Amino acid sequence: MATLANPATDAITAKVHVGGRISPADAHHLWQHATDAELRALASHVRARFHPADRATYMVMRIINYTNVCVAQCDYCAFYKLPGQEGGYVLPQEAVFAKLDELLTLGGDLTAFNGGFNPHLPLDYYCELFSAIRHRYGDTLEFYALTIAEFLYLADHAKLSYAEAASRFKTAGVRWITGGGSEILTEDFRRRHSKFKYTVAEYFAAQRAILEAGLRTTATMVIGFDESLDERIEHLERTRAFQDEVASINGGLASFLCWTYKPFFTQLGGIEITTQEYLRHLALSRIYLDNIPRIRTSVLTQNQGALEGLRYGADDFDLPIEDEVTQKAGATISLDFNRLLDHARALGFTPQYRHVARHVERV
Ligand code: SF4
Repeated sequence: MATLANPATDAITAKVHVGGRISPADAHHLWQHATDAELRALASHVRARFHPADRATYMVMRIINYTNVCVAQCDYCAFYKLPGQEGGYVLPQEAVFAKLDELLTLGGDLTAFNGGFNPHLPLDYYCELFSAIRHRYGDTLEFYALTIAEFLYLADHAKLSYAEAASRFKTAGVRWITGGGSEILTEDFRRRHSKFKYTVAEYFAAQRAILEAGLRTTATMVIGFDESLDERIEHLERTRAFQDEVASINGGLASFLCWTYKPFFTQLGGIEITTQEYLRHLALSRIYLDNIPRIRTSVLTQNQGALEGLRYGADDFDLPIEDEVTQKAGATISLDFNRLLDHARALGFTPQYRHVARHVERV
């Protein structure tokens, strides 16, 4: 049976087709009334402004969780241990190097550091680690040094301004600090679930300082907690508005990555959202974020199903080999890269490796 046309959906589609920008009310409408096929088509239309229709880029990467000791106590986290609690750890440099060597052996060249707010680790621990990595590996691999959330904690803990902290990391060889730790960027969400993880205003102030210091950064989002549709759209609106402000500062937000909450062994609990809901959100993000060229789909949390996201507006994915934070909460990782790449091909895409290392984005 044919679906009846929806005049409001048609009007939004026509607006996007002539380069118009959707409003929060438009996003509400699309989420509630657009079919999967309509969302897919509109997201693919916006994607085609930035990327050849049949090309998808990817990276092999790992997340190194250098410490699980954390005082933030987010209720959606299954990873952290409080200071002094059994099972807490800090990785020594040699252990980090071993993980980086293994990454290179597996064909990857990007790593992201993500750990807890550990009050016993001084700023020097980080600067010495990052400087040692740059010295040992040069430009053969690249690293996302911290998330914005950790950056905020470290600057605060060391009593440095965001500009001073960013400058210290840059001197230590850091080039990237990612937008991780954003989850849902509404003040109310943060009060409900992560009240020690800084406010939305602080998050963006730090991110601006990072760009102004000459470092690069990205946008992220996590869905599937208890956030409302309004909160998801507010997150997208804030991200787009911020990119409008900073796009001319050192490249602005280089990409947007959304992944999904894993509820196992967390205080918050809950049930996972479906892959279909994730894909619809990916499409909505691609349509909304018309000023961010690269939209990434999360193999880490959606496995092979994430690749379907390439048909919902995403153009890039990573093949992860490790992330203890999401694995502790239920994520599973496959090292069968050929199977995943074959699946992307079967969907009609030609995967091309994207090198962040050597500071060159070749494709
Ligand atoms: S999500 Fe990050 S900041 Fe929050 S408790 Fe877990 S490790 Fe700490």
